[in-house]
Amino acid sequence: MEPALISQIIRNQRQFYSSGITKNTEYRRKQLKKLHQLIRREDGLIVDALKKDLSKPVLEAYAAEVALVKGEIEYAVANLDSWTRPTRVRTPLPLLPSLSSTVPEPLGVVLIISPWNYPFQLAMIPLVGAIAAGNCVVIKPSELSAHTASVIEELIARYMDPRHVSVVNGGPDTARELLNHRFDHIFFTGSSRVGRSVMESASRFLTPVTLELGGKCPCIVDRNINIDYAARRIAWGKFFNAGQSCVAPDYVLVDSGIRDEFTEALKKTVLGFYGTDPRRNPYYARIINRSHFDRLMGYLDQGNTVVGGQALAQELFIAPTVLDGVQPDAPVMQEEIFGPILPLIPFSTFSDALAFVNSRPKPLAAYLFTRDKMKQELVKAETSSGSLCINDAVVQFVSRTLPFGGVGESGMGRYHGRSSFETFSHTKSIVKNTMKFDIPLRYVPYRFKLPLVKWLF
Ligand code: NAD
Repeated sequence: MEPALISQIIRNQRQFYSSGITKNTEYRRKQLKKLHQLIRREDGLIVDALKKDLSKPVLEAYAAEVALVKGEIEYAVANLDSWTRPTRVRTPLPLLPSLSSTVPEPLGVVLIISPWNYPFQLAMIPLVGAIAAGNCVVIKPSELSAHTASVIEELIARYMDPRHVSVVNGGPDTARELLNHRFDHIFFTGSSRVGRSVMESASRFLTPVTLELGGKCPCIVDRNINIDYAARRIAWGKFFNAGQSCVAPDYVLVDSGIRDEFTEALKKTVLGFYGTDPRRNPYYARIINRSHFDRLMGYLDQGNTVVGGQALAQELFIAPTVLDGVQPDAPVMQEEIFGPILPLIPFSTFSDALAFVNSRPKPLAAYLFTRDKMKQELVKAETSSGSLCINDAVVQFVSRTLPFGGVGESGMGRYHGRSSFETFSHTKSIVKNTMKFDIPLRYVPYRFKLPLVKWLF
């Protein structure tokens, strides 16, 4: 998009925001309902675009993109009154007889930059929070999921006021052009590499950022489990969307005592889910583009194939693949895989597994499969990750009552449900004194004694 057009969009939004309309809770509710209507009426178009971009199976597209956003909107509409209400807080003794409270206020004009792997929901869920909090919003979807990006642009233009919500489509150049402007918050979902440069650009205007980044999510499999359940939950979480999920288990650390049995169970599960010819399976997505396909193909010979390994470049198809015999220093164990390849690494003692996880950057999600409560507590206390999911995989992302976000290399800030509203709000502190009387004690010349000050404070 032309730089002049981008400037115009932002200018219009600034003007609209200054009018104060978006501060009205009823206006916000109405806009959220419009967004809900957009999704209800146009879900066919959205699912179709996801099919074109990623061959997303209809059920996965509906559950993980359309329904998730609808649910977020309904939750925001139902809770808007309580989220926007001022909160009374206790007033400390030295401030009496004042009253203290906090009130959330919108930030202004915000920018959302989103990736291609869940191209609809990763643009829309932040949008729900931004609208609920009373902001104007510019969205920059990923150019790699071009069909979904243009459906988002078309539908937002049709259903929403561009002075309130606008979509700017384009690649890195367009994103950089947007970042030349002052925003009041930037919500970025994508790679750590680009996240760094977004933060750098934002620093010029002291714009706060939320960075939802990636990394390698470890999955520890202890001996004290139901092996079949663990294999099923891990295979489902990993191969959903062909492994292109930021919270997908990136690799499995498995107790060497159950290594063979677990490997066999995983193999059986993958064959049970996707069959011997997963290319023909209607419940399996494709890789986003040729360059990611080539990158993933490079990992295939970095271990022994337990199951999978088939690929077809013309269809951007790579079968759900499990590798063992992988070296911890191989590229597949150094870079975020973000595709349908799952390395298995055996460990001898549980503390070895913890040390392995702790020797690497803090992940977006960590997974632990064990019945052992002591080990559950140990992982909770001794590892750090955006989220920890015990005895399941990926499902924590779906919760509206849990904040979602990374820590360290995997990002900063959080969203979903109330956290989204808070991310796009400023919590203003308010102290209100009375005009009915005045306590002269604090004024100069000071008449009270030091012990009284010490007691008061
Ligand atoms: P990416 O960083 O390449 O691109 C993300 C967005 O940034 C796109 O819209 C892109 O156009 C834009 N962009 C590209 N260059 C830019 C620049 N120089 N300045 C500003 N914006 C620029 O990421 P991707 O390949 O689209 O997504 C994959 C990554 O995203 C993975 O690392 C994955 O783990 C991560 N991810 C994280 C989450 C999460 O919730 N934490 C969710 C999905 C994906």
